[in-house]
Amino acid sequence: MVPLTESAIRASFVNCTKGEAKRLAVPLDLIDRPWTDLDFFGWRDLSGAERAYLVADPGTGPVGVALRVATGSGRARRSMCSLCLTTHTGDGVALMTARKAGPTGRQGDSVGLYLCADLACSLYLRRKKDAGRHLDETITLAEKIERTTTNLTGFLGRVLG
Ligand SMILES: [Zn+2]
Repeated sequence: MVPLTESAIRASFVNCTKGEAKRLAVPLDLIDRPWTDLDFFGWRDLSGAERAYLVADPGTGPVGVALRVATGSGRARRSMCSLCLTTHTGDGVALMTARKAGPTGRQGDSVGLYLCADLACSLYLRRKKDAGRHLDETITLAEKIERTTTNLTGFLGRVLG
């Protein structure tokens, strides 16, 4: 994807207030991120707060979504990311919820998604990061990327309602 600047990221959020978008923790090392290998840019808030963010560019400019990470419930958890379909062991997949954009979100409506806990889907797909196990799939990397993008677009559509 096209490299994003901090101001482009802050301006892209669709499901939080302007004040929240101004204050949220954007990584400082944007210039060093592997943008050419990213289908979307995602990160966890390193302050320890259970927050994560993702910014995608569906072709109409960046769309940012603020996510809340569900903390371990102890119950059986899904181990497959619903975007990139990478399977992980342990805490590698997390349930994240996004407040919907607009009035429904302000009334508390949200959308949930099982995601690679570090939001590095793009790097798992390209085997630049190892998840430990891989699905035996015969489809090509390009097809996997397309599938991930389709899943992501579907999620964005649900957030935007
Ligand atoms: Zn993933």
